[in-house]
Amino acid sequence: MGGLVSRYKGRMGILAAVSFLGALLEASFLVLVTGIAMALVAGDSSVGPYYGWLVPIRHALVGAATVLVVRLGLSLTSVAISARLTADVTGDQRHLLSDAYLQTSWAVQQSEPSGRLQELLTSFVGRVTNTVSTMTSAVTALLSLIAFLGAGLAIDAASTGAVLVTLGLVGGVLTPLRRRIRSLATDSARANVDFASAVSELGALGLEMQTFGVQHRFASRIHRLSHDTTATQQRVQFLTGALAPIYMSMAYAAALAGVALLALMGFGDVAELGAVMLLMLRSLSYGQQLAAASGSIAAAAPFLEAIRSTADRYRAAPAGGGGVVPDAVTPLVGTNVSYAYSLSRPALRGASFRLAKGEIVGVIGPSGAGKSTLAQLLLGLRKPTAGSLSAAGTELGVVNRFWWTRRVSFVPQDAFLFTGTVAENIRFFRDDIGEDDIRRAAAQANVLADIEALPKGLYTHLGERGNQLSGGQRQRITIARALVGDPQFLVLDEPTSALDSRSEALVRQTLASLRGKVTVVVIAHRMSTLDICDRVMVIESGHVTAFDTPEALRESSEFYRNSLTVSGIG
Ligand code: ADP
Repeated sequence: MGGLVSRYKGRMGILAAVSFLGALLEASFLVLVTGIAMALVAGDSSVGPYYGWLVPIRHALVGAATVLVVRLGLSLTSVAISARLTADVTGDQRHLLSDAYLQTSWAVQQSEPSGRLQELLTSFVGRVTNTVSTMTSAVTALLSLIAFLGAGLAIDAASTGAVLVTLGLVGGVLTPLRRRIRSLATDSARANVDFASAVSELGALGLEMQTFGVQHRFASRIHRLSHDTTATQQRVQFLTGALAPIYMSMAYAAALAGVALLALMGFGDVAELGAVMLLMLRSLSYGQQLAAASGSIAAAAPFLEAIRSTADRYRAAPAGGGGVVPDAVTPLVGTNVSYAYSLSRPALRGASFRLAKGEIVGVIGPSGAGKSTLAQLLLGLRKPTAGSLSAAGTELGVVNRFWWTRRVSFVPQDAFLFTGTVAENIRFFRDDIGEDDIRRAAAQANVLADIEALPKGLYTHLGERGNQLSGGQRQRITIARALVGDPQFLVLDEPTSALDSRSEALVRQTLASLRGKVTVVVIAHRMSTLDICDRVMVIESGHVTAFDTPEALRESSEFYRNSLTVSGIG
């Protein structure tokens, strides 16, 4: 919270000063109006005396009206500053986190639980933002308290000192309660993230859930996680709400004790006693505001902390890359490349290979063998844990990321289209790509005719996940997305595994047309995809067990022969 205050201290200070000034003006207004009323009742022509001055009623009326106008101006100013501050804090926190996420490595992004980032960016940021106004009112209460105590010192130093000590003691007694609020709020933050992840899975698994008829199981899971959030939230809210009344009761008890003490010891000056009591009660009420604010701040702190620590974690693992621009992407050479997600079991072990310009390479192997891991290494998304990968002699780790991303391309297994037009989905945020390029890539991906049959062609708006298109059409659109930037190197992760045979044949045709121009690595599920491959790499249990032409593999690789037999080709 300290960071938040120091970042916006200028505006928070102005806001507090404006609110404080407004409160002083309001008090003056009340004093003037009461004075005027009393003067009228008494039949006097003037009001006061204020600091020894008698003010004519007419002047007092003008004065009160002026105070009212100025007070309105100050209030509106404070509302405007507060609204702006809230908007800025919301925006800043969101930028901090989303920028850090976008610049972190794929390894970190991929290990984030689904829904977590969304929860942090929306509800966590919301909570932090709400606390900004609480902090501002706390500063106002503090300023008012200081003003009152300052005034008190002039009346009676000893009593003011006693008030100060009482405030400090009562505030201190509540420290364990604040700690408890903070620790409960930490649990609450965690429960909220778990709940968000479950909701996000719920959204992704709708089809399976309906098919297997397990809605009730999902419902009970959601209810349980939701209960975890509401139960902790309830306790946090109770304790936060309890802080102020507990503080007030203790403070009143202290005041009562003070009065009792005076009664015992005797106190001569009745007028001074009244002033001291008034001072004490007002101070205590400002103290109460501070206590309430400190509770809310303790409850929000873990949410801010989660945003900060997550952003720090993202920044600690930036996406790799350096400043070197190689001559070309190929030859892409792997030397004893290993990769381990965890130390115990490497997913890829000692793979060595050389991919030449324009060749089409198929990758096959049992599931879990390490094919996708190899694909991510080839794309430069993960760094080998041992061995080296180089593009035309330059280590991938030092290659300029922008240069690299403009030359490599990828087609995932599950085609994911975002809410936008077909053209936007193919362009995929690369603003320099024009409509002609998009049409050419769509034609190359054998999907142009399908697109032109849509109501508005390339400018047809696709719903979320492109749900008005078939799986095959979606996949061919992602292939157009991969081809539109004229890549030198294209990786496809089982692009046809879920496709009908017509779509599969079209994809195969597209890949074959790239021969000699683009280096293609295609992780193949269907053996028919291998027809177009110049060479095939066989990966088993993380090892490259064979890498040769299809004809040679019929002789040398048992896995290859078995696969052909199983698929009915052999
Ligand atoms: P394939 O693509 O051949 O099916 P993968 O490359 O996806 O195989 O996985 C290789 C091994 O690495 C498997 O044992 C898998 O469990 C493990 N693995 C894959 N991705 C991750 C990950 N993100 N975290 C931990 N282990 C992983």
